[in-house]
Amino acid sequence: MDTSQQEHFQKIISDRFVAIEAELKGLEQGTEVISPDVSIGRLSRLDAMQHQQIALANKRRCEEERGRLHEAERRLRDGTFGTCLRCQGSIAVERLEIQPDAVTCVPCAQR
Ligand SMILES: [Zn+2]
Repeated sequence: MDTSQQEHFQKIISDRFVAIEAELKGLEQGTEVISPDVSIGRLSRLDAMQHQQIALANKRRCEEERGRLHEAERRLRDGTFGTCLRCQGSIAVERLEIQPDAVTCVPCAQR
């Protein structure tokens, strides 16, 4: 992978970080603890708790992706970005464009 490609992927990763931060910010209000004395009725309380569970799951997913993106940045720096961890072959650029945190090539991912 040459320097211009590395810069290209650094930008994709940076953009993902911005998007994740924005999503996490939006999820913050959804993950607040629901106070038991809030008089919103039983059904809407269940509803609120369900929404909270979804928000928490989304938050976890965002945080996991953020962790993988930090790893991808590290691989960009040490020159192993785009190299499959399993077969040491090259990961298709098209795959990395969509999923910059991918650590395996498509054939290995499907194995
Ligand atoms: Zn592979």
